[in-house]
Amino acid sequence: MRRPIVAGNWKMHGSRAENARLIEEIAAGFPERPAAACIVCPPFVYLQEVGRLLRDAELDSQIELGAQDCCAEAQGAYTGEVSAAMLRDVGCTYVIVGHSERRTLYGEDDQLVARKFAAAQSKGLVPILCVGEQLSEREAGLTNQVVGRQLDAVLELCGADAFAGAVIAYEPVWAIGTGRNATPEQAQEVHAFIRGRIGARNARIAAETRILYGGSVKAGNAAELFAMPDVDGGLIGGASLKAEEFLAILGAARS
Ligand code: PEP
Repeated sequence: MRRPIVAGNWKMHGSRAENARLIEEIAAGFPERPAAACIVCPPFVYLQEVGRLLRDAELDSQIELGAQDCCAEAQGAYTGEVSAAMLRDVGCTYVIVGHSERRTLYGEDDQLVARKFAAAQSKGLVPILCVGEQLSEREAGLTNQVVGRQLDAVLELCGADAFAGAVIAYEPVWAIGTGRNATPEQAQEVHAFIRGRIGARNARIAAETRILYGGSVKAGNAAELFAMPDVDGGLIGGASLKAEEFLAILGAARS
């Protein structure tokens, strides 16, 4: 059985004071036995401190720490980059790779994202691989082609076995930060396609891989999205910065 995940991508938001307040508010309302695993992904500079805040709030066994990106290289002269080993070193267990903002704003292509996925796994991090189509691609009927291509880059570099324990986030680009989420049916269709693509290589691993939906998830739409059979929780952007919303989304997940 796949335990759902609710992961918060804080993007480039927050400050030391705001992070402390957010964790305090999350701690105050955190359920005793959440049905979903919970992850928060703060900006690099706050990872260690958020880890400490989670420990102080006795939430570190309930909320895991993830980063928003990592370098594809192991170490060396890569100014400004952060390696997967460094993320492990400061307490991360997850890392997002291939977020659409990295792909579109920073020119990350499928091959680079696949190398980041491999780098993360080689250091014991669980990659959260983001895939998703632009609005024009959906309108042109290219959704499966685009998502399939993004997925194949990882399958070709790492093999289907690499998805054992890995996480995929289907995030249609047109739904990210727009307030316009995919319908549960649209999400289910693509999630089933993703599972099928992995399943064509390894049915057992495909059945175990958790596929999150991301794109304007909020308290009001989480339950219907999470009720779809191939939707195993969500990657949450904006709504993860508001404790009440984030906790309501976590509460919408069912095992
Ligand atoms: C995201 O950035 O991964 C995301 C899903 O953002 P939002 O929830 O704000 O659409």
